[in-house]
Amino acid sequence: MQKKKVIVIGAGLSGMSAASYLQMNGFDTEIFEMSNYSGGLCSSWKRGDYLIDGCIHFMVGTSESESTFKFWNGLIDMKNVDFVYYNNHCSVVDNEKFIYFYSNIDELEKELIQKAPEDLVQINFLISGIRKFINVKLPTDKPIKTMNFNDKLNSLKMVFPFLGKMIKTLKISNKEFVDKLKNPFLKEAFKLAFVDELPIFSTMLTFVWRHNKQMGYPKGGAVKIASLIEENYKNLGGKINYNCKVSKIITEKNQAKGIILENGNVFKSDIVISAADGKTTIYKMLEGKFKDKNIIERYESDIFETIDKTLYVSIGVNKDFSKENHKIYFILKKPIYVDSKTTLNHLEITHYCEDKSAAPEGKSLLTIMPDSLDWEYWFELRKNNISEYRNQKKRIADLIIDALDTQFGDIKNNVEMIDIATPATYIRYTGNWTGGQISWKSKKETISKPIAWNIKGLKNFYMTGQWAGSSGGLNHVVMLGNHLAQIICKNEKVKFVSVQK
Ligand SMILES: Cc1cc2nc3c(=O)[nH]c(=O)nc-3n(C[C@H](O)[C@H](O)[C@H](O)COP(=O)(O)OP(=O)(O)OC[C@H]3O[C@@H](n4cnc5c(N)ncnc54)[C@H](O)[C@@H]3O)c2cc1C
Repeated sequence: MQKKKVIVIGAGLSGMSAASYLQMNGFDTEIFEMSNYSGGLCSSWKRGDYLIDGCIHFMVGTSESESTFKFWNGLIDMKNVDFVYYNNHCSVVDNEKFIYFYSNIDELEKELIQKAPEDLVQINFLISGIRKFINVKLPTDKPIKTMNFNDKLNSLKMVFPFLGKMIKTLKISNKEFVDKLKNPFLKEAFKLAFVDELPIFSTMLTFVWRHNKQMGYPKGGAVKIASLIEENYKNLGGKINYNCKVSKIITEKNQAKGIILENGNVFKSDIVISAADGKTTIYKMLEGKFKDKNIIERYESDIFETIDKTLYVSIGVNKDFSKENHKIYFILKKPIYVDSKTTLNHLEITHYCEDKSAAPEGKSLLTIMPDSLDWEYWFELRKNNISEYRNQKKRIADLIIDALDTQFGDIKNNVEMIDIATPATYIRYTGNWTGGQISWKSKKETISKPIAWNIKGLKNFYMTGQWAGSSGGLNHVVMLGNHLAQIICKNEKVKFVSVQK
């Protein structure tokens, strides 16, 4: 029988995951990617002696005991990746005061009680939640769309022991938790380290992953992960076409039939998957002709909000940061004006000294992700006045270097490399419309919304990746790629197989 032809738009992790799992199941897949590299947002770039990891700060699912490990391990032989596990999630420093958010729960509990004894009730709530979830395994094997009655029952059995606590902690946001804290510094530290809108459940899970060594940093960084996935996909017989920007998805009689590239070339297929930016897919590639309730809710209501429009500032310094904590939030002595919607009162730095590929021996790569909420400003400035765009980047870099010098000493004279990506950079390289990093804000209101796998009224068309899901994150989009392959297999009456390495 002739293999079904599937075109996948975008060689980010979600596109490569969907294509790989479909390739394993006998489909003839081909990816069209607008840039000249794979990985999408999950990428690294070389600047002099430094290799900038433009993405990964933490990767979830690095150990077999975590429920998304299997999705990685179908694509990469995880035994061949060396992960760094830090002894804390991060630290927050304000002059002489500091708090370590330890990975080990006992140490975390001790630290929090010591720093904020007046918050014992809230600390107990947090710690008991983490301890409760320490052995949790979420039922991720199958997407709901392909589950039968028994699968649903088994999923319920799996989460049943945790269900009460889960429901309760999904209903409380980090902000609501913080509002009840009394100690001003713990309040401030918690607010900086954990996103306001996220449910406290996700913060508890973060500590579970840290404690269990289920979340680490892969040595070699983003480029290593993306290229291992690409290599595996090609070994499965898959093909990636680079520098191929898709401008249109061909539809006939409410069925997807193929794609048209920006250069006019036409490619036909039985199935089209978009793993690219959601807004571009719906309103440009499909010209806004196909929408359903789910799509309208995502793109035309206020329920879904986009997240994390940041600058990505990388600095190479001839100074060894290996004795410093790997991720430090510190309060600025002088605020830094970024754009009309953003003035910074703190910075968050990450160093990669445990990874020899990031910087030469004795030197350090530092990355900083300050907010820059007025993404349109950066986009317009780059388009209309490139020299002023560069001046603004330099102005901010200088202020950040001053702040680092004040905080850590001995920086200014030792800077060897500066690189700044803005939302305009992310738009240019990945097509993500607001230049943000993780698509949607994961809020209480959106976390249980259905995944936008397809659009009612358009056959043979599917979506995956961070815009289809409730939010992004690497393990999440790799899982979504696998789940989409399962859905397509079910629709095409193919028994799904997933080979583990
Ligand atoms: C600075 C930063 C830090 C992050 N940190 C972490 C972290 O520590 N841990 C974590 O889990 N996640 C992190 N993330 C989030 C994570 O990287 C993303 O959620 C994930 O990579 C999204 O994958 P995706 O495949 O859905 O989308 P993308 O990576 O955006 O892939 C989409 C692909 O489609 C291509 N494309 C777009 N339009 C077209 C077109 N018209 N034609 C052809 N191709 C097209 C793009 O070029 C791109 O390759 C971070 C992201 C950023 C930017």
